[in-house]
Amino acid sequence: MIDVLVIGSGGAGLVAALSAKGSTASVAVAGKSYPTRSQTSMAQGGINAALGNADSDSVEAHIADTLKAAQGLSDEKAVQSLCVEGIDAVEWLDRIGLPFSRSAEGRIAQRRLGGASAQRACYAQDYTGLKILHTLYDQCMREGIVFYNERFLLNLITEEDEKGGLCIGGANMLNIKTGEVEKLEAKTVIVATGGYSRIYHRHSTNAVGSSGDGIAAAVRAGARLSDMEFIQFHPTALKNSSILISESARGAGGYLLNAGFERFTDELAPRDVVARAILEEIEKGGEVYLDIRHLGEEFIDEELPQERKLAKLYEGVDPVCDLMSTGRTVWAGTHCWSWSYLGARQATMRQNMPRLLVCIVKMKCSWSMTEILLMG
Ligand SMILES: Cc1cc2nc3c(=O)[nH]c(=O)nc-3n(C[C@H](O)[C@H](O)[C@H](O)COP(=O)(O)OP(=O)(O)OC[C@H]3O[C@@H](n4cnc5c(N)ncnc54)[C@H](O)[C@@H]3O)c2cc1C
Repeated sequence: MIDVLVIGSGGAGLVAALSAKGSTASVAVAGKSYPTRSQTSMAQGGINAALGNADSDSVEAHIADTLKAAQGLSDEKAVQSLCVEGIDAVEWLDRIGLPFSRSAEGRIAQRRLGGASAQRACYAQDYTGLKILHTLYDQCMREGIVFYNERFLLNLITEEDEKGGLCIGGANMLNIKTGEVEKLEAKTVIVATGGYSRIYHRHSTNAVGSSGDGIAAAVRAGARLSDMEFIQFHPTALKNSSILISESARGAGGYLLNAGFERFTDELAPRDVVARAILEEIEKGGEVYLDIRHLGEEFIDEELPQERKLAKLYEGVDPVCDLMSTGRTVWAGTHCWSWSYLGARQATMRQNMPRLLVCIVKMKCSWSMTEILLMG
């Protein structure tokens, strides 16, 4: 029997596995994809933490920005722990080898993303998520954590505990390669299966695996969900492919232009504000474009290489010399963010079943501070 079974091998799952391993437990991770193919690999822009490397910044300013962007909907205690602990989390990632982009002085580089009053996002070019996954996966290999890849969670096994109540005893997984159903028995199960915004089908920037079936399995086993309505609409996805062009493009100085090629909004306002401004332009019958041409080829290739590659590959436009059309996909950039991104709570599973833990990554501030909620 496995001590700790983590289901899901994205940022949340791998951090949970490493944390559990630290306590010398036997740990296994099962996921329907390979770890480096998880949704986390697509995160581009960065992780907010008030290091103050590029600007004067403070935890208090980070908290204030987050509360303001959340417009009163956030859990203040959670925002506070996110902003305080985010600094340690980024430093931990740095220590275990995440190749952060660096300033001329060798410190972790930081850039400004929407809703932030300082240059606060720590990043690794625009491959932040992929590099995080590679780093965490390396650490998991080093720790001897066992991986069951291409295993689809069918259901959590419920059994009677000593007091006659229900508890979780493992999971039944479909081996996608062989078609066989495998039973993985475990003393503790951590569900870290990510978000569910693929329910918006092609109008989503998320990985195809973000379809919510892990959450559904937890519900069937007795978990309770909350805050399911917190789905985020990202302002800038490429028009035809719905592929995200990260906020880092606007953070670096990119403009949003309307059909008359005029700027019409503060590009670094919180996402809901920018998304609404774009929608208004579209409803007037216009197109909306993202313009980063003035940043220059050298800068784009150094700081935003993935975004250039994606625009060329999927839309046939080269942002070094072309405008990128983001019109009509404004509502397509749907994300299923972890609960604290805008200080809002989202899709937190709460349940009262012993031995089932639910794991979510506190994004934007800390990928390493996997929050493991033990309810009951
Ligand atoms: C294009 C894009 C850019 C982004 N940029 C940023 C950014 O700059 N900064 C930031 O903080 N956030 C960003 N995000 C959000 C961020 O990527 C996610 O919030 C985060 O990666 C979620 O991590 P996770 O480990 O919870 O989920 P995931 O990475 O989705 O991992 C879930 C895991 O569970 C597995 N799984 C799911 N269902 C099952 C099942 N039924 N059975 C078995 N396994 C299953 C999956 O295969 C996967 O391994 C971005 C998102 C997108 C789409």
